[in-house]
Amino acid sequence: MKLPVDQLIRPDILAMKAYPVAAAEGFIKLDAMENPWRLSQDLLVELGRQLAEAHINRYPDPSGGGLKEMLRVAAGIPGNADILLGNGSDEVITLITQALARPGATVMALEPSFVMYKLNAVFSRVNYVGVPLNHDFTLNLPVLLDAIAKNQPAVLFLAYPNNPTGNRYSRDDVLAVIEASPGLVVIDEAYGPFSDDSLMDLAGSVDNLIVMRTLSKVGLAGIRLGYAAGQPKWIAELDKVRPPYNINVLTQITARFALTHSGVFEEQAAALRRERSHLAEALAAYPGVRVYPSEANFLTIRLPEADLLYAWLKSRRILIKNLGGMHPMLENCLRFTVGSPDENRAVIAALDEYFR
Ligand SMILES: *Cc1c(COP(=O)(O)O)cnc(C)c1O
Repeated sequence: MKLPVDQLIRPDILAMKAYPVAAAEGFIKLDAMENPWRLSQDLLVELGRQLAEAHINRYPDPSGGGLKEMLRVAAGIPGNADILLGNGSDEVITLITQALARPGATVMALEPSFVMYKLNAVFSRVNYVGVPLNHDFTLNLPVLLDAIAKNQPAVLFLAYPNNPTGNRYSRDDVLAVIEASPGLVVIDEAYGPFSDDSLMDLAGSVDNLIVMRTLSKVGLAGIRLGYAAGQPKWIAELDKVRPPYNINVLTQITARFALTHSGVFEEQAAALRRERSHLAEALAAYPGVRVYPSEANFLTIRLPEADLLYAWLKSRRILIKNLGGMHPMLENCLRFTVGSPDENRAVIAALDEYFR
């Protein structure tokens, strides 16, 4: 007699839905904050040569094969910080949550924000406290400080800039949050390359701070490489939870290659920031559209009957993210990843038609 699935899988998992990823074949894909550009043909040929040398019969170098040293230079990680590599920063979030998941521990995050913070709390069976942002998505510092004092979170995840809203909180507010937190504070800088500020300079010198970044949003979403920097005493513990071969051979080679050509990605990030202002200006000109300030590679807007616009764009083979239904505060909100100039022109043309 075999037990049925629903008597073996945890009830809280049974009640969940899998993370939704929309089919995007044939669409202008502006739903997942990917960089719109592939590498040039020359660079791809060179990368292909390097990948052909890979020893895919061997396990990867568990320490990352020199990647940490390269990331330290590229991301300005201070000398007194150590580095943890993850299979995407999604995995880094998982490792941190698992390592801190003592019985009764609390994970805290702002809302609306990146859903993986809460999901990982559920997976690791710890308490989760979501602290609401203001209705315009700015940080309500007194409310957050109060929640920290009351709940004493083992870890607070704070996206800087925030996803899915795009805004960056003030540095002083975030420093006050770190100061007031008894536990670890993880500053998630997935959008750091598109932002005007970073707390990376403080990694290693502030006791309870970990700064997390990823190569995904700058143009390497396919290779899955994220990393975190913090004091060695933290990184050493987190590293015990990490699967030893989490960064595969092909990712190590591709990331090293990308970091030796980091200028290409920096130029693309600069171009996307320029495109972001053009697109923001265009979006704000339509009646009833509120564009939220963004320091990320996407723009979040609110407008009446957002579902209709979402469906319209979909009918025009443009895929964005409909944020409605993800969180009560995101009702009638849509998120546009900033694309290439051509893609953004197509978006604006479709919007012109919609609002005509
Ligand atoms: C996209 C994103 C991540 C996940 O990045 P990966 O490295 O691709 O796993 C983490 N945090 C935030 C806020 C994000 O938007």
